[in-house]
Amino acid sequence: MVLWLNKVVLQSRNVNSQFRAVVGNGSEVRFWIDKWRGELQFKDAFPALFSVAKDKYASVAESWDNEAGIYCCRWNRSLSNAAEFEQADQITSLLNGFVLTDSDDRWVKIFVWRLEMDRIPTRAALRRRHINLQEVSCALCEAEEETSLHLYTGCGFTFRVWSAIGAWCKIDPFFVFDVKDLLKLANGRRIKEENKIIQGIVMVSMWVIWNARNEKIFRDKGAKVGELVASIKSLSFIWLRSRSRFKKIVWKDWMVNPLYML
Ligand SMILES: [Zn+2]
Repeated sequence: MVLWLNKVVLQSRNVNSQFRAVVGNGSEVRFWIDKWRGELQFKDAFPALFSVAKDKYASVAESWDNEAGIYCCRWNRSLSNAAEFEQADQITSLLNGFVLTDSDDRWVKIFVWRLEMDRIPTRAALRRRHINLQEVSCALCEAEEETSLHLYTGCGFTFRVWSAIGAWCKIDPFFVFDVKDLLKLANGRRIKEENKIIQGIVMVSMWVIWNARNEKIFRDKGAKVGELVASIKSLSFIWLRSRSRFKKIVWKDWMVNPLYML
């Protein structure tokens, strides 16, 4: 049980690192900890400054003076060495032109974005880049060439995962012809939040499927539909609790119906 929990926590940490904030008013996004500007979290990009930052968990709103157009972090002591001054300059230029707005902060999933752009390194994509591969068939079904279109919309194995997830979300059986169709699966529902939750579950599913594919290829670990479905349920539960107003959802009810709280 502890082992299982550790695994889920570990995976959920990876899930969070896959998110990037699109800052609006900056109240939900943490200046040092979240990924929101540039390629890295500020704690990793500017470690010398992070070590003297007074509030490591400060939000962007608390750390940015919108009128002056400059960051206003508080430090444990005055900045004093070359590395600190250099990083202070780097932050200034990285944040050049940044402004807070009135809109809510949003989170986007980096992986899904890459997928939509067909930039995930499937075997077919690698071959297009002239990387010589012995094996180009899908690792999960071994029946067709592995493209992202196949992996997410045409694969017999992932079809069984989608069927189970569809039944859990009470979505009618669906056919999708494009990866983008998956993300639009929940559009047009009566309650806006239903869309958001189902879309989140679809994103987590894509990520879990991609991981299962990697485990098969790199560690020869066979993928089981039931295990993937269980991971999707637990990871999306953690995701929803940490990224929405539904902080009190109950696992037991969630397992039965992920829209039960609406
Ligand atoms: Zn397949």
